[in-house]
Amino acid sequence: MIEHKNIPELCVPAGNLNILKYAIAYGADAVYIGGGRFNLRTMGDNFNDDELSQAVEYAHSNRRKVYLALNAVIDESELGELEKYINNIKNLDFDALIISDPGVFQKVKEIIPGARIHISTQASTSNHQSVNFWGSLGASRVNLARELSQGDIKDICRLSNIEIEVFIHGALCISYSGRCMLSKYMSGRDANKGLCSHTCRWKYYLLEEKRPNAYFPVYQDKRGTYIYNSRDLCLLAELDKVVETGARSLKVEGRMKTENYVSRVTWVYRQALDLIKEGKFTEQKKSYLLKELDKTTHRTYTAGFMFLDGKHNLELTDNGNVGYLRKYRFAGNVESFSEKYDAPVIKARNQIKKGDVLDIMQPGKNPIKFTLSEIIDSNSEKQMEVANTNASIIIKGLGKIDSYSLINVKL
Ligand code: SF4
Repeated sequence: MIEHKNIPELCVPAGNLNILKYAIAYGADAVYIGGGRFNLRTMGDNFNDDELSQAVEYAHSNRRKVYLALNAVIDESELGELEKYINNIKNLDFDALIISDPGVFQKVKEIIPGARIHISTQASTSNHQSVNFWGSLGASRVNLARELSQGDIKDICRLSNIEIEVFIHGALCISYSGRCMLSKYMSGRDANKGLCSHTCRWKYYLLEEKRPNAYFPVYQDKRGTYIYNSRDLCLLAELDKVVETGARSLKVEGRMKTENYVSRVTWVYRQALDLIKEGKFTEQKKSYLLKELDKTTHRTYTAGFMFLDGKHNLELTDNGNVGYLRKYRFAGNVESFSEKYDAPVIKARNQIKKGDVLDIMQPGKNPIKFTLSEIIDSNSEKQMEVANTNASIIIKGLGKIDSYSLINVKL
């Protein structure tokens, strides 16, 4: 197995400051975030001005990078607000700004001449000429369209003058990156302004024009029909082949996801990249990491357009069973440690009960399994059978676990 000296950056999403800290603890090289305006997750938590500054400081003090997304499509009427916003963030030391609109690109260059700019997947860049066009304007990286194959990406990396980034994991659109109007048509919420209502995941019926109230079900499975619904992208099993393309950054989708999701996905891909670096990404290791990744809530996976062979073509056309798969439930985060009970104090994020089989994730360590036999209320110190959401509990017998540990319950 070949060793790879130049392992690409692992770039992961964070919807708020807390998630950014988890992402860093679990091994992200870079984290991308959104401020209050002009990014593609305006429905998410996002970072206010003070949090943006804290994010930069925290990431840099941990020697990681932080990128700010400014990748929405901008209307003429928004240009004034955009200018104010760029002026507002101009003194923050982001490692790059993520942009898709040439107007935003121009404005950023005017106001922050030294800014590094990454071109968002929203720009649908799909050949090296386009990459070099962006490079000639001063961009330092392009995140390619998600609809390209491994061969194309390899050629683009070879022929490009600037860095290439590709998505390796997370939700996909059924439309070409950055060109979806489905949400705007059906709910009035424009996906290209960060307001996507995920219309493609809705349930659809067959309707005959003369019988407006007769909704004929068309079943793909017992829950209904989801003709536009895409599987989730997962390139873990073939990550070594993605590394071989020469891409400098591998990106995970999911700025609306919890710290639990982001931490596990980050940990799994961190392990995989470290193993690839050492030439030890064996079938056995791959299968272990795929099982760990499967503990996140996700749709059926696909390798997308990366490998257009018989197996992967089938994945693209067969969108059966694309509802969420859930084998574990997020149960809590570690809050502190009780010396008296020699056990961690956990903030319950969902119900936990005696007898539950827990999965304990800790930064930099393999997850461990623990069967819950004693729960103590951390305030009253009484024994409990069941702890509900927001309860502060002591899990007896677990011993010391690290900061940023996350607890899941096996379903
Ligand atoms: S509606 Fe679906 S395909 Fe369109 S942008 Fe939203 S998630 Fe993507």
